Amino acid sequence: MGSKERIAKALAISTDTKVFEMGQGVYTCVPEVFKNCFPGRKAAIVADINTWPALGEKVYEVMQQAGIPVEKYIIDKQEFHADWKYVEMVDRVIEGDFAAAKALEDSTDYVDTLPEKLFREASTDFNVLVSVGSGVINDLCKLASHHHAQSYICVATAASVDGYSSFGASITYENAKQTFTCPAPVAIVADIDVLANAPKEMTAAGYADLAAKVPAGAEWLIADFVGTEPLIPDAWHILQDYLDEFLGDPEGVAAGKPEAIAGLFEGLTLSGFAMQAAQSSRPASCCEHLFSHILDMTHHRYNGKLQSHGFQVAVGTLTMCAAFDEAFKLDLTDLDVEACVAAWPTLEQEQERALAIFEGFPVPKLGYTEITKKYGDAEVIRAEMTKLKNEWPDLKARMQAQMYSFEKMQKNFRIVGAPCDPTDIGCTRQQFKDMFSKVQLMRFRYNLLDLGKRAGFYDKIVDAIFAKGGAWEIA
Ligand SMILES: [Zn+2]
Repeated sequence: MGSKERIAKALAISTDTKVFEMGQGVYTCVPEVFKNCFPGRKAAIVADINTWPALGEKVYEVMQQAGIPVEKYIIDKQEFHADWKYVEMVDRVIEGDFAAAKALEDSTDYVDTLPEKLFREASTDFNVLVSVGSGVINDLCKLASHHHAQSYICVATAASVDGYSSFGASITYENAKQTFTCPAPVAIVADIDVLANAPKEMTAAGYADLAAKVPAGAEWLIADFVGTEPLIPDAWHILQDYLDEFLGDPEGVAAGKPEAIAGLFEGLTLSGFAMQAAQSSRPASCCEHLFSHILDMTHHRYNGKLQSHGFQVAVGTLTMCAAFDEAFKLDLTDLDVEACVAAWPTLEQEQERALAIFEGFPVPKLGYTEITKKYGDAEVIRAEMTKLKNEWPDLKARMQAQMYSFEKMQKNFRIVGAPCDPTDIGCTRQQFKDMFSKVQLMRFRYNLLDLGKRAGFYDKIVDAIFAKGGAWEIA
């Protein structure tokens, strides 16, 4: 199936996005897309000091030439993350109060407003946003548009994340990185010339965010196996059937070859469509993303700089490839089911364990809340472990067909220029080892580590990754 057919098929299953224009020089179609999606409305372009000269200004000009009333808001910051105050800043841009937006941007004593207080009744007086930027700007525009009961147009400037087309915006609220449910943009415009000229590390980050769908897919197979989150065929096939193809030319991605960049962006966009179809981030995210979320929540910096989503996810992805490599060495056909049941803690014990692990963490009750959602009693464990023992060869074969070895993934990351070791993002291997206990607990989603806790192989695989001869041997 060619790219055009794939995109048409993906648009058919996506719930929010109706237009996806990708190609060299396609930014000129923005006015027409705008007129079709938002007839008679006025526009506000949101960009930052990097994306404005890269593309925002050009989009502004073609919008003006097309006779569309258009304003601009350029975020005057070299580095900013998706913090709550910036959502409120973009809220003001939609309402046309640019001075209030600027005051929010510059404020140093901002206190996060309650999310429910930011919703407004729909109005044709509002500006419709045209976000010109990468992940953060898009997420801010996505949530702010939702607050005003309207959609927006996303003009991508880098193949750096999958968030363009996903429903939901990943924003830090009260110190915790959270996904706020909100619709994806009605239209996405991706000019390959612009994407190919984006900073190399942004493209490498996008490659890693797409590569994350390899372990995320394998962990979905586990959730499907135990029955907590069954595979959704549309959402699975639209991405996973082509994932190897999209990831298959790391050299081309590194060289900025238009076809390779187009493939990468298409893959990232399709994973967003998969999330729309599933109405969940299950198709695109599991443990590999949680390592990144911990780093976000603890405001991790390297050489004074926050590390990109994709770079953090790269190290998480490699970690999970190593974890699966170790899991594949196990023979669970002789699992002692009754021993697993006997060793299984009570809910109260699990909650206590979670509170202890998250003590001192910015969100101390996170593990407690999430483990409560995914806890299963002894009967559940008995049924799961019996199934695991009986069907392990089949489950293992399906996961092996899905996974890349640590070695293969690391080789691809090296070629595209993505991180290949925790030290590349300023972490030690020990830090990653220590993160495992939080990763297992911090989301309701059933993952490989949950399976390991229940079947008694958790310590074995985690220790092996960092032991002598392991992927990340700690000397
Ligand atoms: Zn991601």
